This record gives sequence, structure tokens and C-alpha cells, in this order.
Amino acid sequence: MNEFELIRTYFQRDPLDPSVTLGNGDDAAVVSQHSDFETVVSVDSVIAGRHVPLMCPPDGFAARLLGRGLSDLAAMGAEPQAVLLSLTLPTLEPGWIDHFASRFHQLCVRFGVDLIGGDTTKGPLSAHLTVLGQVPKGSAVTRSGLKSGDDLWLFGPDLGGARAYLDVLDGQQPDHEIWAERYWRPEPQLDAGVSLRGVASAMIDVSDGLCQDLLHLLDHAVGSASVKLQSKLFPLCPDLVDRFGQDKALEYALTGGDDYCLLASIRGGVTIPTRGRRIGMVVKGETDRILLDGEPLPDAWQLGWDHSR
Ligand code: ADP
Ligand code: MG
Repeated sequence: MNEFELIRTYFQRDPLDPSVTLGNGDDAAVVSQHSDFETVVSVDSVIAGRHVPLMCPPDGFAARLLGRGLSDLAAMGAEPQAVLLSLTLPTLEPGWIDHFASRFHQLCVRFGVDLIGGDTTKGPLSAHLTVLGQVPKGSAVTRSGLKSGDDLWLFGPDLGGARAYLDVLDGQQPDHEIWAERYWRPEPQLDAGVSLRGVASAMIDVSDGLCQDLLHLLDHAVGSASVKLQSKLFPLCPDLVDRFGQDKALEYALTGGDDYCLLASIRGGVTIPTRGRRIGMVVKGETDRILLDGEPLPDAWQLGWDHSR
């Protein structure tokens, strides 16, 4: 199959959203924009051997790619509209690609996005996904704005399962259905994100590790601020404590990454519009910016995933 047949067969679909005036198949797509809205746009890479195993199952590759990309829109409070997929494949033969494309399109329908363009090349497996979303003008929720008096809230799944699954992939732990699901089927918290517009003072998605992502909110805080977390308030993925013990389970939950829940600061007393969990509070600055049960975080913790490592 040549590149053009492959693109036609697997990637060209008629757009569902009327705002896509011209979809996939021309030199570029055309998307119309409501004048009261702003476009929210972001791009993410998934590289085999780096963000996913080298021999990566096609459905998992598709789900992680879309989950990760759309989670950035959720974190801005944006409604997703469209995605562009730049894909590099070791072979242009059907098989892997067939499964990848069907899962990809299935998830596009589920999350309400059109695949409006992309690029296809041959080489080591990797993908770059550009996501487009929209918010009413001025209502995007940013990382800036956390301040003392806020509570810290988590929206989305429990924590640490995706990190624990890395130990399964390494052969250090027997397989675990829920951990595998957290890793291979991340759920972008799109509805929660939209509902938190005008409610959250600051928001980020937990992709690199809760503590590391929290530090980004603290970097953009208004005035001096630090955060008091309470370990008993954290939603831990099932069986983490059984398999790893309390301390390691907490470390995985607080630093593991790939959780794709939303972490938001919300002024005390504000009504919370969707199901979430309060995990701590923001107080006036202290030397340690994050305190866990009143103590500094353990020195041995690597606070989150660093992609340049
Ligand atoms: P060009 O040479 O202008 O870049 P291409 O032959 O690369 O055109 O692509 C033809 C059309 O197919 C374009 O509309 C492009 O956006 C789309 N396309 C190519 N690869 C993909 C892909 N992996 N996913 C979605 N659309 C794609
Ligand atoms: Mg091209």
C-alpha cells in the first residue's frame, strides 16, 4: 500500500462537526470560528520506546495519544473540536495500522473531535497529535491564579495505577487489570474541565506526576503560597498498598504521572460543580512549598517524570 492509498483508506473521514468547513484531504483544513469564542491549541508527541513500549499495541497507542492530547484541552476548560495527526510508521502495510486507525476513529467519535489532517511518513513508530478546542472568549482556565485560602481539588480517576503498570511492563509485577487500564486507556476529563470554567482559580492536568504538576501551579501563584496535602485524602488505585506498601503506594500516587486527572485550586466555600476530591489546602508561603501531612516531601522522591531524562 502506498502513502496515498494508506491515507485515503485509514485517515480520511467526513467531518461530523459543522464548524469544519473543509476536512481532511486537501492541502489544509478549514475550520470556522464563532466570534465569541477563542481557539485553544496544543501538540503532544508519543514516541515508541520513550512514552510507550517499543512494541506497542495499536489500540493502546491510539488511546494514549488521544488521551494525553485531549487532557491538555480539559485542563484549559476547553471543548474539543478537531485533531491533526502526524504519524511515523515502521511499515505502511495494513495490520497494525488497521487496528490503530479503527481505535483512533472510535475514540474521536466518543470525544467529539474530527480528524481534520495530518501527515504520514515511514520510520520508527511515533506520533504527534495537535488538538484544537474552543472556549468562550476570556474563559480559558490557566495555570496562573492559585492563592492562599484556596482548596486543592482532584477530578478524575484514582492515582498511581499507570505508574504501577510500568513495573508490570518491566516484569517486576504480575499483570493487573486496573493498572493496565489506567495506563492504556487514559480518560481525558473533558466534562469536568468545562464545568470548572469560572470556578477554578488555576488548573493543570496531572501528566508528569502530581507533585511536579502542582509545582507548576505554585510557580504561577498569586502572592507567596505553599500547599498542605493530606495523605489520607488521596484516591489510590486499587492494590497499590497491598503490592508495594503504604510509602511506595503514596510515592507512586504523588509522583508517578500519566494519571490525567485535573488538579485545580478553588477558593474555599465555592460550590464544586462536578464530582471531585479535596486533597489539601493552599496557605501563605513557607520554606517547603509542598507539605505532606505536615512534613516536607521525602528527599528520595523524584517529583515527577522528566522527559529530557
Ligand atoms: P501534503 O503533501 O499537502 O502534505 P499529504 O499527501 O501529506 O499532503 O496529505 C494529504 C491529505 O491527507 C492532507 O489533507 C493531510 O492533512 C491528510 N493526511 C495525511 N496523513 C494523515 C494522517 N496520518 N491523519 C490524518 N490526515 C492525514
Ligand atoms: Mg504531507
